[in-house]
Amino acid sequence: MSVNNTNTNTTRRDEIAAGLAEVERRIAGACQSAGRARHEITLVAVTKTRPASDVRILAGLGIRDVGENRDQEAAAKAGECAGLPLTWHFVGQLQTNKVRSVVSYAGVIHSIDRPKLAEAVGREAVRTGREVTCLVQVALDEDPGRGGVVPAGLPALADLIAVTGGLRLGGVMAVAPLGGDPGPAFARLAELSAELRKDHPDAKVISAGMSGDLAEAIRHGATHVRVGTALLGRRTPFVR
Ligand SMILES: *Cc1c(COP(=O)(O)O)cnc(C)c1O
Repeated sequence: MSVNNTNTNTTRRDEIAAGLAEVERRIAGACQSAGRARHEITLVAVTKTRPASDVRILAGLGIRDVGENRDQEAAAKAGECAGLPLTWHFVGQLQTNKVRSVVSYAGVIHSIDRPKLAEAVGREAVRTGREVTCLVQVALDEDPGRGGVVPAGLPALADLIAVTGGLRLGGVMAVAPLGGDPGPAFARLAELSAELRKDHPDAKVISAGMSGDLAEAIRHGATHVRVGTALLGRRTPFVR
């Protein structure tokens, strides 16, 4: 190829800037029709499968929150991006044997779905003098393979997080069921969040909405949208 690195990155920056402008336009439109303010919504840029150079471009464009779903990839990228003013969000299913690594870089874990995991994160956070914001991932469909606690299990898991050292209970997270209208699932998540906030008024986070359904999520009270494809393009396998 005749293009050098600098030119490649200039082009990539333009692509990402255009993606970000379009996502911001969609968020602004959704906020306007829902009577909400833009500052109520945190855009988490999901950078899984994307190189650290993309993360650096996003940081240069003002993004402060990035999301990853696999520890091995995320740990390497967070290391490469050390020094950038970023909060790393872990949004994928998490095995307890990865907790030590994840707690070393993640400020927020969106996928707490069982007591053992909450306790393991708490132990590691205390050991390393960190505070990790934990969201309880709620399963809104019958598919157990996608992670999440059943709605009936939310209060007990939230109570556990709230009393566990090293953890801050942030709120709830869900992924809309595959196929069909995400509206009912996001409405249910909003109800569960309202119920949770009766006992835990500071647990205000509702992490919902991805590239395809962010407007619907914002309509239903999402405070955090997790957006990959619409910012960075369709994912191809990440070669390490
Ligand atoms: C990949 C991923 C996203 C982003 O999905 P896009 O459709 O690419 O925006 C959001 N949340 C989770 C949990 C993910 O794994």
